[in-house]
Amino acid sequence: MLNFQAEIAGKAAFGAELNFAELKFAARAENVALARSLVAALIAARPEANWDITVAVLEEIKVAVSEAVSNAVIHGYAEDPTRLVTLSVRQYQFALLVQVADEGVGIADIAKAREPDFTTGQEHLGLGFAFMESFMDELDIRSAPGRGTLVSLVRLLPQPEEAAPRAEQL
Ligand code: ATP
Ligand code: MG
Repeated sequence: MLNFQAEIAGKAAFGAELNFAELKFAARAENVALARSLVAALIAARPEANWDITVAVLEEIKVAVSEAVSNAVIHGYAEDPTRLVTLSVRQYQFALLVQVADEGVGIADIAKAREPDFTTGQEHLGLGFAFMESFMDELDIRSAPGRGTLVSLVRLLPQPEEAAPRAEQL
């Protein structure tokens, strides 16, 4: 299920992989905050990468991560705290890849699930995937009923100034 990483790792536009972290945590609602923190900490760990990540962009990434993790916890596992969600974060020179995986109930109709306002939950708005789609540059969902779901989120990041060819090199 984690093949998407291999597929896109070769994408030249992402640049070199700079850092990687993976975290497994119990399917509890309070661990949504843990997931947000891991992503923010990984971004903060490489200030020399000189990304122009503004507070607003960081907030968008955190909202998308929260929505994906909430889905895994609530829909995938029905908040069964004995089940584990896997969060992996890969920092590339020019992109951030966040993957949220569960081995829960899975999604029967992915296209339908992606539609804004579609929900199988009570007291849910059905906007999680819509937020992920609008806040990230790429949203990839792989799922199979009874086997689980892998959500991959990519945010392209501005190219640092020094990566552009300098005048004397032209
Ligand atoms: P909201 O996110 O606004 O609270 P929601 O979670 O229902 O509502 P989406 O996040 O867009 O809306 O998800 C749409 C539907 O896709 C869910 O109602 C659920 O049926 C299904 N779904 C999403 N993620 C998973 C998952 N990890 N496992 C199983 N089903 C999922
Ligand atoms: Mg949701």
